[in-house]
Amino acid sequence: MKKAIFPGSFDPLTLGHYDIIKRGVKLFDEVTVAIGVNAAKKYMFSLQERIEFIEQAFANEPKVKVVSYKGLTVDFCKKINTKFILRGLRNPADFEFEKAIAHTNRDLAPIETVFLLTAAKTSYIASSIVRDVIRNNGDYTKLVPKSVRIKNT
Ligand code: ADP
Repeated sequence: MKKAIFPGSFDPLTLGHYDIIKRGVKLFDEVTVAIGVNAAKKYMFSLQERIEFIEQAFANEPKVKVVSYKGLTVDFCKKINTKFILRGLRNPADFEFEKAIAHTNRDLAPIETVFLLTAAKTSYIASSIVRDVIRNNGDYTKLVPKSVRIKNT
């Protein structure tokens, strides 16, 4: 079985992530969306909320799993016996950043990173922009799947 993990913060899940995961399940038998937990980082959404947003968005897609992990992504890959890391690319800045991480990961473990180019219509979407829109009371709903909603709104 060909398995991949799609690691990130998903604070929150966006239509950009959603597109990459949807296309990832066409390439792999299983895609584990892996939420990296960094104790030093402040998140807008709790881990539980971020997990629920993804689980609900893919409720009808049994090939998508959601987990959280701490530590190095390659160590987590070994732990769950996964040989591929899935990542999305939006622009040259993403490429440079991702290249350094992918090379480092290859030094650490025999794990391949597979890149999918963002869909044109979601190429401008980033979780940080969604958080900014939310903080400023803008309509964030066009940028995220339906499962991503702020409580009491
Ligand atoms: P980070 O790892 O910086 O917390 P995210 O959680 O936002 O990043 O993203 C996880 C993965 O999703 C990364 O590979 C990132 O490039 C990708 N990604 C984020 N937004 C988009 C988008 N709009 N289109 C395609 N890929 C995206």
